[in-house]
This record gives sequence, structure tokens and C-alpha cells, in this order.
Amino acid sequence: MTRTVYLNGEYLPEAEAKISIFDRGFLMADGVYEVTSVLGGKLIDFAGHCARLSRSLAELGMTNPHTDAEWQAIHHELVTRNAVIDGMVYLQVTRGNPGDRSFAFPDPEIAPTVVLFTQSNPGLADNPMAKTGMKVISIPDVRWGRRDIKTVQLLYPSMGKMAAKKAGVDDSWFVEDGHVTEGTSNNAYIIKGNRIITRQLSHDILHGITRAAVLRFAVEAQMEVEERPFTIAEAQGADEAFITSASAFVMPVVEVDGVAVGTGAPGKIAARLREIYLEEMLKSAI
Ligand code: PMP
Repeated sequence: MTRTVYLNGEYLPEAEAKISIFDRGFLMADGVYEVTSVLGGKLIDFAGHCARLSRSLAELGMTNPHTDAEWQAIHHELVTRNAVIDGMVYLQVTRGNPGDRSFAFPDPEIAPTVVLFTQSNPGLADNPMAKTGMKVISIPDVRWGRRDIKTVQLLYPSMGKMAAKKAGVDDSWFVEDGHVTEGTSNNAYIIKGNRIITRQLSHDILHGITRAAVLRFAVEAQMEVEERPFTIAEAQGADEAFITSASAFVMPVVEVDGVAVGTGAPGKIAARLREIYLEEMLKSAI
């Protein structure tokens, strides 16, 4: 089946979706994106992704081209047309094609480029890694200072992922001023006793949609949440560690820079949080 994608108001076979070489997304990484998971044909935490999209666009001085209801309709149309059961919908908005290359933004604003596509991933919620846990290494965080904006500048996170692969592990955690900021494409957590520790929100990290939901569920489940930076040594000495993201949900971390975390096997609290997250999110999926 040929995949149907969305480009600027049209549903097209993927091979027919074409974008100008002058698009600022292509030349300047001048754009933002969102990834919403699909489970059982439904969107997970869609309102959260819409809210963050609005915020990212506003931070870059771009007008949101659609209402939340319009975004939702496009997402549902793509999920239906591509018969996605489990997987994701990727959405990207760039500052458009001004017709030439220039550092200055087009002023007044021109039409943005809006692209959405789906990727199927059957059994997404049954990822075997949830049973074995993942291993991470640490690398310096040399990204720009506005990581709270979900831009398409993903070169350094891609390099971090490749550094992890080369080291024979699953991901990298970024470290700045001696403290973990986040993973290449996820938020990072450690657990000590009944206490979940994760870096506080700021410009230093992406405000994960999954993070917000998981912390809410953790508090509801009588766990303690402490939002502060932690070091790699602290992670290595923690009882458990895990990451969250829209596509990995809650994933245990069992090794940091070659040192086992806790028993070296996925911990009970991370497993429970994953269970609660999936259960609650499936209830509110649309
Ligand atoms: N941090 C970074 C750098 C990310 O790329 C992501 C995933 N987009 C996250 C955190 C997790 O965010 P979310 O839970 O909204 O997927």
C-alpha cells in the first residue's frame, strides 16, 4: 500500500509530495515538529501535543496555521487512510519558502509548509525492551539554549544516538555542567526509594508531554517527585532509572556508562509507571 501523506492542504501519495529547495525548514532547520503515538488506531495525549505545538510556534514568532480541531481531523484522516493501528503521526511546520536563501525571516510572514505523515509500528506498546531495559552512555550537551522549543534541528541528538550505537548501547544522556539534561529524544529520571528525581522544566530540556503525564500519575500513586538536576554518579547509585517519550512511553534504564543501575534489571517502580501510563492513556485516547 502506498503511504498517503499530507502536504499543505492536500492528501498525496508520498512520492508526489514535493517541497521547494528554498524551504526554510530544509535550508535553516527553521521549523518545529510533533510526534503523536497511535495505539489501537487512536491518538495518545493529543491535546498535550497540540498545546506544545502552539507554544513552539509562538516562541519562534510563527502563526499556528490550524486550530486544534483541524489538526485532529488531519491526524485522523491520515491514520484512517494508512490503516495505522499502532505507530505514530509526525507533524512538521516550517517557516515556508521565501523563494531565495536569506538569514532574515520573510516579513511579513509567508505561508508555512505543513507536512504530516504516519509510520506504522505494530505492537508499539509491547516493545521487548521494556522487559530487558536499555543501556545509556553520557555525552556532553552541546545543543543550543532553547531546547524547550521542539525544532527540527536534530543533528546533535542524531550524533548522540550514533555514539550510543557505536558504544554498543541504546541511547545517550546529555550532560551539562556535571548534570544530566535529558536523553537524545527523551526525558531522563532516576528513582531512590519511593522518590522519582528528574530535571526541572526550563529552557534546558524539552517539556515532554509524556513527562507531564507520568509525573501526574506518579503523584496520584503516592510516589514522591523531586524536580532537580542529577549527576551520572547519582544515576549509577540509584535504585532504578528510566526515560519517557511519546513513542517509548516509560522505558527502564539498567546501565549508565557501563555501571549497572540497581540490580541491573528493570525496576518495579518503572514497570508500574509504564503500566499506569499505558492504561490511563488508552482510556483518554481519541
Ligand atoms: N526530550 C527530547 C530532546 C525529545 O526529543 C523528546 C521527544 N520528542 C522528549 C524529551 C520527550 O518528549 P515527549 O514525551 O513529548 O515525546
